[in-house]
Amino acid sequence: MVPTQFQKSAALLIVDIQIDFCPGGALPVLEGDQIIPTLNMYLELFYSNECPTFATRDWHPAQTSHFKDYGGVWPKHCIQNTPGARLHPDLKLDTKTVFLSKGMDPQKDSSSAFQAMDRKGKYLLHYLSEMGIKKICVGGLATDYCVKASVLEALKDGFEIFLLVDAIKGFDLNPDDSQKAIEVMRAAGAKTVTFWDVKTLMEEN
Ligand SMILES: [Zn+2]
Repeated sequence: MVPTQFQKSAALLIVDIQIDFCPGGALPVLEGDQIIPTLNMYLELFYSNECPTFATRDWHPAQTSHFKDYGGVWPKHCIQNTPGARLHPDLKLDTKTVFLSKGMDPQKDSSSAFQAMDRKGKYLLHYLSEMGIKKICVGGLATDYCVKASVLEALKDGFEIFLLVDAIKGFDLNPDDSQKAIEVMRAAGAKTVTFWDVKTLMEEN
């Protein structure tokens, strides 16, 4: 079978599905774990179509200006090599998924996946350029922070963005933050889609 345009140029980006961002964690998103089964469906779809997949994690030093105790706004979360920083065990990642970390700089807030790098210091953008990726399907946590920052940066860099509205959840520190974030992403050019839309795109020429 000839690969479709979408298959040839699309990647999946899963943002921060970590213990600390799920119920019971240090900085939980309400029902944050409930999107994991849907993310697993996306993973399976991308694996079976041989499309690249990326997963980011928040990966902070114990002392960082990102945390309330050191001048930031957030409670401590996702500290390197602690159980809370682990990816949620229900997320069914294959070894093919490229794993990227962000938030290591103690002086900086790094919300966007485009600030995430692998163990060798290779950034997401470098992978995407190398692989000829033009379209990114984005899901994960949290809609109103890291997902939004990643999507807006990707749009600025010229990528076509498919926001997986059935596989994102937000903090909603103010009610409607997530809804507003989705509106901002759409206004900047992101398309909002669900699983069946992406499955159809995979199959259509
Ligand atoms: Zn963080």
